Amino acid sequence: ELNNQLNFSGGPGVLPESVLAATRQAIEAVPEVGLSLLGISHRSQWFAEVVAEAERNIRTLLGLSDDFAVLFLQGGATLQFSMVPMLLLRGSGKTAEYLRTGYWSSKSIPDAQNEGAVRVLWDGEAEGFRRLPAPAELQHSPDAAYLHYVSNETVEGVQFKTIPGLDSVTRVCDMSSDFLSRPFDPERFDLIYAHAQKNLGPAGVTVVLIRRALLERVPPGLPSMLDYRSHLQAHSIYNTPPVFAIYVVLLVSRWLLNDIGGLASMAAINQQKAAALYGAIDASGGFYEGWAAPADRSLMNVAFRLPTPEREAAFLRESAAAGFSGLAGHRSLGGIRASIYNAMTPQAVAMLCDFMREFARKA
Ligand code: PMP
Repeated sequence: ELNNQLNFSGGPGVLPESVLAATRQAIEAVPEVGLSLLGISHRSQWFAEVVAEAERNIRTLLGLSDDFAVLFLQGGATLQFSMVPMLLLRGSGKTAEYLRTGYWSSKSIPDAQNEGAVRVLWDGEAEGFRRLPAPAELQHSPDAAYLHYVSNETVEGVQFKTIPGLDSVTRVCDMSSDFLSRPFDPERFDLIYAHAQKNLGPAGVTVVLIRRALLERVPPGLPSMLDYRSHLQAHSIYNTPPVFAIYVVLLVSRWLLNDIGGLASMAAINQQKAAALYGAIDASGGFYEGWAAPADRSLMNVAFRLPTPEREAAFLRESAAAGFSGLAGHRSLGGIRASIYNAMTPQAVAMLCDFMREFARKA
């Protein structure tokens, strides 16, 4: 039997049960419109209001000032790996600083190198991307074009607890796997991007928060789809946007505001879930071994290993039989990964912890 609430996938992942129910209904007919969500024009007044309310809700959740534009774009977080250096590096004559802290930040670097000079300020590969740099390890340059980092490395499960970089240098962050999972001060950033398929909704849309002042320095010759200004001027309806995905993002933003009560409450729940899961790992006498250094452990992606590949295969087999899904580690790292995004309930995490204790006991 399917159990959406035991879906520990790294993404696309679990969504709140109430959001799934409202989405099912909207596929039949959006209550205010009387048409299927899948067949409503992106040029309708209704959809313009969907975009406007989703933007408003994100602003409210973050306390985001009007110095920032909120955009809903396509191309995933991966297209931002290119759009960011096209805007901020191309023709600048400067060097961009990148923190190479895991699989996804590694993916972002070649696309930046296409646009200009890149300095990898810190590289965690030799240590298996098990830890993040301490502030004292980072020799930032005040002349950098910008600093780019990934706030939560989805594959390895390491998450920044502090904000690296100089406040005087443009700060860019890929928050794909922890956006809206905890409060943060947006004023310390200049450009933030996050695809929806972790904490915000289904795949197909990427949220970009960009300081409007950055758009004064767009280099000439950008394709219009890759120019943030096109999307800003058109209120994210420059071409046909993913109406379905944006509507579900709206439903999730309402859930965060009204059911959860905002990002501080969300963070408290996320802390509690992560503490339970890491607690089960740490209490296993070494049977389960967490991948991340304890200080850098992600509250979103809990990557761990078992003593042998055979035990890991048995763990995946038996957990699937018990109704859990999505627990296999990323193909690049192997092992086990339990992703516990916003919509994962504490009850489901407790069930996984019970399963883990029982599996270790029998082994
Ligand atoms: N950045 C991070 C942190 C990710 O976790 C992922 C994918 N899981 C990506 C970028 C790539 O995102 P997309 O597939 O939406 O391009």
